[in-house]
Amino acid sequence: MKKLTQKALHLVLAVSVLLGCVLSAPIAAEAANPDQMEVHFMDVGQGDATLVTCGGHAMLIDTGDDTKGTAVQNYLQKQKITKLDYLVLTHPDADHIGGAPVIITKFDISNVFVSNFEKDNKTYQKLIQSLDDKRIKPLTPKVNSKYTLGTASITILAPGKSYDNPNDASIALLLQNGNRSFLFTGDAGEDAEKDILKTGLDISADVYKVGHHGSKYSTSGAFFEAVDPFYAVISCGEGNSYGHPHAETLNRLRKNGVMVYRTDEAGTVIASTDGKSISFNVPASETWKAGEPTGSAGASANSAAKAKTASGQTRTTAPAAPAQSETPSDSGQPAASEQTPASAQPQKETAPAVEEKPQESAPPATNGLTYVLNVKTKKFHRPTCNSLPTTNRQDSSDSRDSIISQGYAPCKKCNP
Ligand SMILES: [Zn+2]
Ligand SMILES: [Zn+2]
Repeated sequence: MKKLTQKALHLVLAVSVLLGCVLSAPIAAEAANPDQMEVHFMDVGQGDATLVTCGGHAMLIDTGDDTKGTAVQNYLQKQKITKLDYLVLTHPDADHIGGAPVIITKFDISNVFVSNFEKDNKTYQKLIQSLDDKRIKPLTPKVNSKYTLGTASITILAPGKSYDNPNDASIALLLQNGNRSFLFTGDAGEDAEKDILKTGLDISADVYKVGHHGSKYSTSGAFFEAVDPFYAVISCGEGNSYGHPHAETLNRLRKNGVMVYRTDEAGTVIASTDGKSISFNVPASETWKAGEPTGSAGASANSAAKAKTASGQTRTTAPAAPAQSETPSDSGQPAASEQTPASAQPQKETAPAVEEKPQESAPPATNGLTYVLNVKTKKFHRPTCNSLPTTNRQDSSDSRDSIISQGYAPCKKCNP
């Protein structure tokens, strides 16, 4: 009995200490100005390598294949990076970890995150050897664990269990700086995407690094709706043998008015954010051109469409068309020269191609309709928004404040 009372007392003490901590936490922390964050989706051909810098800190997500290790190294050195806070190797496929031994050998790395999927091949053994040589113990981060990168935060979303294939075992993470967020899912397929949804974590993101190089087996419907991105970046190689990105994925992005950036067309894509707006170093793609299947003659013709698209200053929803039928309208031009990570130059000063908030007119006051609600996702839109809900829709004549007080959040696309 005495023991129980003591336990209860301890509990009360623990709770009050916790409460004390919460109450005394600096409330102004959120209001501090976020550091500038840059996300470099490096052109490594077919594969992934993304460098994130924020307030003097750096994270590299994947390294391209073994032919790209040195190019990624050079790119990082050009950015004056000597130390990585994090090296995230999403999963052990060669197009993601092949370049890792070079990076591990050349840079000082604080944390290496690996998937829980182990492979029994040379590429994987080389990775393990290079980690051993530097006496680095890699870690598989837990779902919902959080890390910081300058003012940015990293929330781990996957893998929450083991899978039969390496792609589904990809580390997925949400990167947030100020009010802007980026989602990375490696090559996770539909099953893994469902598991990410099941965590109940917020995965909505301004920028979606399209899963599995734009494969149709990723970016499944419910998952995409939850991400609800404004921008999407596809990292893939021109004329790759998988036919990435697939038409199905491009159509989904196009139908939802997402602005798409592609490393196979534009070379290295750099997104910069101060936590409020986001700008890109290149204009959004307008080709909607799907990858070609293996050995297709169309592969080299693709290059004609490279990096010549006009800037998408305003957002328009184009009708969904089969992406394969799209041909570049001006294919007589010579292809732009290949941008390799080593030669790519950040152009953030000169080319803020895209502003976060397209200007839209005020909601028309017809029939007292002010906003359109999605009762399921709890978002509200201007009646002129391109992404009005087709199901779970409710029209409202309430004021903005009243709608927000009912628990609705403004749509990130129309910014009501
Ligand atoms: Zn891959
Ligand atoms: Zn893969």
